[in-house]
Amino acid sequence: MSKHHPDLIMCRRQPGIAIGRMCEKCDGKCPICDSYVRPKTLVRVCDDCSFGTYAGRCIVCGSPGISNAYYCTECTSLEKDRDGCPKIVNLGASRTDAHWQNKAAGFKKG
Ligand SMILES: [Zn+2]
Ligand SMILES: [Zn+2]
Ligand SMILES: [Zn+2]
Repeated sequence: MSKHHPDLIMCRRQPGIAIGRMCEKCDGKCPICDSYVRPKTLVRVCDDCSFGTYAGRCIVCGSPGISNAYYCTECTSLEKDRDGCPKIVNLGASRTDAHWQNKAAGFKKG
């Protein structure tokens, strides 16, 4: 299994109903292991990653999406498709964490 670039992490929030997208360059790639073979399970992303400027964007690199993203057969059998939203977010963006904490607090308050 290949590894993503070390400064890239995945969102991992609870996926919503939105389908993950892939751009021309990333089309056919498994978002978990970068495999290009045997795509199997449709990728679902969380509400935040399918909203506003992220809508229809490639979940790997953020370019305009042209096709649906799929987990490969191997990742599906390992249930990696259940680990949460697989959209790549930059580790350097600490504001992402702050945003998530705000949201989590909001959910608790109802
Ligand atoms: Zn995979
Ligand atoms: Zn997400
Ligand atoms: Zn891409």
